[in-house]
Amino acid sequence: MTLSRSAEPKKTNLLTDTDTLSPEPESATDIRRISAEETKSREIRDTAADARPVERIGEHSQPLLSVRSLQKHFPVRSALGRRTGNVQAVNDVSFDIYPGETFGLVGESGCGKSTTGRAVMNLIEPTGGEVWYEGRDLTKLKGAQLKEMRSNIQMVFQDPYTSLDPRRRIGYAIEEPLHIHRRGTKSERTERAMSLLERVGFRPDQYYRYPHEFSGGQRQRIGIAKALALEPKLLICDEPVSALDVSIQSQVINLLEEIQQERGLSYLFVAHDLSVVRHIADRVGVMYLGGLVEQAPTDELFGNPLHPYTQSLLSAVPIPNPRVKKDRVVLGGEVPSPLNPPSGCTFHTRCPFAMDVCRSVVPERVQAAPGHEVQCHLYAN
Ligand code: SF4
Repeated sequence: MTLSRSAEPKKTNLLTDTDTLSPEPESATDIRRISAEETKSREIRDTAADARPVERIGEHSQPLLSVRSLQKHFPVRSALGRRTGNVQAVNDVSFDIYPGETFGLVGESGCGKSTTGRAVMNLIEPTGGEVWYEGRDLTKLKGAQLKEMRSNIQMVFQDPYTSLDPRRRIGYAIEEPLHIHRRGTKSERTERAMSLLERVGFRPDQYYRYPHEFSGGQRQRIGIAKALALEPKLLICDEPVSALDVSIQSQVINLLEEIQQERGLSYLFVAHDLSVVRHIADRVGVMYLGGLVEQAPTDELFGNPLHPYTQSLLSAVPIPNPRVKKDRVVLGGEVPSPLNPPSGCTFHTRCPFAMDVCRSVVPERVQAAPGHEVQCHLYAN
């Protein structure tokens, strides 16, 4: 596959990857089947990509998920336990995700994108704001109600090495959410786990194996099967391919796309690799120091980035053509501490276009084009 609809292709070396560490050899039939799948996964998925354009989102007037002014602050305490401040990990973040859509969240490490994903799912309790899902604010739900709503929103974690219990067979790991939510009988749960294993490219008999018998890419596929067990409508994918070899990344991305096509799932896709996000996302939000500074349909954002931070981020994406020269926007200064973020626009300490007003006044969100929002004084009305 090509990981970008219109930009650089990613290196795909699927036949020499480490994704075949299973101690027992595959049967000849399986090897042929997997080879065919791998060959297929290297092909450009124009059909899949074209079937999921932004226009399709317009068919749905109602978002599946609406995040409004989400905040997550972590208290900082002295050695004596006294509260001395707050790490403002997420600040006033708002976005919508529509049925069947992939919304990408990008930004530097530590900008709050993973914390946003966890706060949306209420894995960590938000400090403020609202998360609306099917007419209910998830931040207000507790106990059984929250547990029931959570079955509709599942997570694919970043690290496939630690997201599975090494003492449990992988079949049990996939069944576990069904067990917790008391879905089906034991035999029905086992049958479902085996069918999900098959869906993500394993043989049903691999149900009885342990996580250490699989490579990183295989474990991430198991993580996806586990996330699908409760038939959710929304998957929060927290850097699902960043711990994998480049060659394996394309397999996992293709699998996520295929599953989205089949089941009409929505994804909140958190990543720092802009090429991956450009390939998979319908719309993209850019985060800086806990805030969402720009969001737009993917092609619009990559073709016409407005916020100076987005421009710098995109200018750092390498182009795999030595003849093409690119003007790199290099930012000065350090990323400020979220413990004490700058006043006004939090980006003013590094922004090459900073004005006096930027140092004292928080910029408002401006609709620069249909669906294209930016938070910067340069575009104030
Ligand atoms: Fe730069 Fe000012 Fe815009 Fe912030 S508001 S990004 S400092 S120009």
